[in-house]
Amino acid sequence: MNNGNYENVCENLKKVRMQIREAEQKAGRPQGSVKLMAVSKFHPDQAVLKAIEAQQLLFGENRVQEACSKFPELIKNNPDIELHMIGQLQTNKVRHAVEIAKCIESVDRIPLLDEIEKQCQRLNKTIKILFEYHTGEESKSGFTDMQELTQALENFKQGKYAHIIPAGFMTMAPFVEDKDIIRKSFVTLRTIAQQMQEKYPQFDLSELSMGMSGDYEIAIEEGSTLVRIGTAIFGQRDY
Ligand SMILES: *Cc1c(COP(=O)(O)O)cnc(C)c1O
Repeated sequence: MNNGNYENVCENLKKVRMQIREAEQKAGRPQGSVKLMAVSKFHPDQAVLKAIEAQQLLFGENRVQEACSKFPELIKNNPDIELHMIGQLQTNKVRHAVEIAKCIESVDRIPLLDEIEKQCQRLNKTIKILFEYHTGEESKSGFTDMQELTQALENFKQGKYAHIIPAGFMTMAPFVEDKDIIRKSFVTLRTIAQQMQEKYPQFDLSELSMGMSGDYEIAIEEGSTLVRIGTAIFGQRDY
């Protein structure tokens, strides 16, 4: 636990950024091809403010209620903040989620898309989404079959979601020690993303959100464009 002490956030961010640059280089990828999201769930405003001081503007939150209690004020004072929702999303929370987020990365079912469209239409707002795909044994979230995922993209193709921009894919690797299992999960997502991009060239599905504190270097080797880092920036969460 960090005892509410966020003095190290700036330093931690610098370290993580450096490690991302190193991983990019090692993988032969262009510098800056991987974006860093700071996952601030369970950490207070002051932690987020420390990260902003260190020029961090992209944040991720899991729960709508927590995001809505922290971020409206932060965004008011720092309009360049970009918040993504990354946790399992209940349909009745969509209304508030679309008000506050620029992107919902955890879209795992078609009814959720229907609701996002409905709420965005109400607000006359366009939002980005990523399709979360289930690639590991332990995690419970994400699309689990290609058929439903394909149907979701067919809905986009038919113009059902005028207020939603499909931007790519997200996954969580299983929490295991075995690096081969973790890598396999990232390769699965990349493969699905490539297949879907070929099938639906009218959409830019190039975002690959994969990699967390424990596995982001592997994710970068496997093509991640966005890593979601909490613990390595803010310390252990105090649930
Ligand atoms: C909490 C969380 C993260 C960050 O995890 P860390 O291991 O603390 O870096 C990333 N992605 C999702 C979906 C999360 O829920």
